[in-house]
Amino acid sequence: MSLSEIRARINAAETAHGRAGGSVTLIAVSKVQPNERVAAILEQGHRVFGENKVQEAAGKWPDFRERYAGIELHLIGPLQTNKTRQAMELAQAIHSLDRPKLAKTIARLAQETGACPDLYIQVNTGEEPQKAGIAPAELDGFVAECRAMDLPVKGLMCIPPVDEEASLHFALLAKMAARNGLDGLSMGMSDDFEKAISFGATHVRVGSAIFGARDYGAVG
Ligand SMILES: *Cc1c(COP(=O)(O)O)cnc(C)c1O
Repeated sequence: MSLSEIRARINAAETAHGRAGGSVTLIAVSKVQPNERVAAILEQGHRVFGENKVQEAAGKWPDFRERYAGIELHLIGPLQTNKTRQAMELAQAIHSLDRPKLAKTIARLAQETGACPDLYIQVNTGEEPQKAGIAPAELDGFVAECRAMDLPVKGLMCIPPVDEEASLHFALLAKMAARNGLDGLSMGMSDDFEKAISFGATHVRVGSAIFGARDYGAVG
């Protein structure tokens, strides 16, 4: 599907659900995609991208930044503590703040450098053992902990379990955000971004619907 089609579907969903036009940010998830596909989207004027891995992001975005102004990079994958400094240098937003240790590391580096990306707390709404994220029952305490460290927490993020109705998870995330006075909701991917918008998503993370399927084999 083309970028303009995705944008049109986002606009239609905003209108259908009484959301202001432009209230949803499209994060084009470029992980594992060949550079020429990413460049094609940049050529069409899009500037907001998402990457899963610090190393991969560091390998391709400095070059793109030299060629295109105004790029905004969102880190959406699990972040190892020892890559935090690099992540904070590269990204304008981190959507995978998922544990106290990472919060403390980010706070220390923010103090040291005087800068911090926007932060989204990842919530493990499905309480899946293999998935990262703060457990729903621990969220309110963790938000308070982050605020006490002066971290710029803008919202919550979730990845619903593949075999469950995503709506339940989007609704839960929206409720938890409202309860904590957070405006940002990073939820919705290629298959369900319109549904996420109906539940209040402010950031949708769309990869394969824009770029085509990811070919993990080609990247190795
Ligand atoms: C890869 C990824 C996406 C994009 O997934 P698509 O199904 O290709 O749209 C969104 N969010 C996260 C956290 C991802 O890892």
